[in-house]
Amino acid sequence: MIRINENFLKLRPSYLFSEISRRLAAFQDSHKGASIIRLGIGDVTRPLPRACIDAFHKAVDEMARQDTFRGYGPEQGYLFLREKIAEFDYRSRGADIDADEIFISDGAKSDTANIQEIFSQDVRVAIPDPVYPVYLDTNVMAGRAGDMTDGRYSNIAYLDATPDNGFVPTPPDGQVDLVYLCYPNNPTGAVITKERLAQWVDYARRNKALILYDAAYEAFIRDDDLPRTIYEIEGATEVAIEFRSFSKTAGFTGTRCAFTVVPKECTAYDSALRPHSLHGLWMRRQSTKMNGVSYPVQRAAEAVYTPEGRAQVKELIDGYMENASLIRSSMEDLGLPSTGGENSPYIWVETGMDSWDFFDMLLEKAHVVCTPGEGFGRCGRGFVRISAFNSRQNVELAIDRIRKVLS
Ligand code: PLP
Repeated sequence: MIRINENFLKLRPSYLFSEISRRLAAFQDSHKGASIIRLGIGDVTRPLPRACIDAFHKAVDEMARQDTFRGYGPEQGYLFLREKIAEFDYRSRGADIDADEIFISDGAKSDTANIQEIFSQDVRVAIPDPVYPVYLDTNVMAGRAGDMTDGRYSNIAYLDATPDNGFVPTPPDGQVDLVYLCYPNNPTGAVITKERLAQWVDYARRNKALILYDAAYEAFIRDDDLPRTIYEIEGATEVAIEFRSFSKTAGFTGTRCAFTVVPKECTAYDSALRPHSLHGLWMRRQSTKMNGVSYPVQRAAEAVYTPEGRAQVKELIDGYMENASLIRSSMEDLGLPSTGGENSPYIWVETGMDSWDFFDMLLEKAHVVCTPGEGFGRCGRGFVRISAFNSRQNVELAIDRIRKVLS
């Protein structure tokens, strides 16, 4: 008899976005023609930069000609893209990362989901609350999370992100082995300073732990003092893997391209305590299970690093960040304490009420959709996430409507 992986039965239903859709559909049903503004979605709304589109077209044409056609590419990604990443994203920040240490993929979602496969079943996993759900759910599927009691899995070490710690958890007193961190953060929009990040790197070095650092929103950092990559922190190449994506940076959510950095000196141990380079394991995992990202997509991503591409990406991000700034200041003017929106497209708003009640109120009275924070974890109760991914016009209209409801 074919049996299932019962760990899947331990997953909590992905309730958040389906519940939002359900409430939205019910509202639309009873308010035909209402113009609804969605500030809940973590997806970009503006098209790809011109430089990317041009490179994309050119590469597609190459695929049509015998002399320039390409079949399977290198599993790790084309060197032309990996070299640009190493130069512009790392060496320009003083981080000594080589093109060989970069793995191109179809998304940071897949990489942050798959990375746990290379670690032992019994590693102790630390996960922030609130959190981008992929880190947690993939460890549940793998059977590492234990059982659910009181809304939390028994084997997971939760790192609470609250107003008291500025939404940046400090390292625990006890041992954890695999730590997921995400800055700028989804959903809170919080950022981490070099000093606070150095505490985590120090923790990982002392405890032979590993940090999985999701920097998918790096492009939104405005403050020059903030770290753009964990490898700006001394010693991090031994204890950290970093994930990045072109999704939010350059509008690639539908085009799909991202990368993961696994430094060669990044180490984990076998049961006899012998050290192993994680680079080799990830290479083996990726080359066994995937055949890379399409050539035209990698050419489009490479165009992000051209002078025109850089200027166009800056303009794109600046547009979202103007929205973010407007949302953040308006929420504070309305007396709602908020974080994020300064170096991140997300604003995390303390509503002073149940987050679903606040969601319903905004939907019914302002016809605006936000995301209830409790869908991201227990510490999200009482918060909502508002996203800057929309047109300026829609954001202004939404703010006007929210102001009328709340003031
Ligand atoms: N990491 C975080 C924190 C995200 O919020 C997202 C997308 O929303 C991703 C990763 C996924 O990125 P990608 O589109 O590259 O799969």
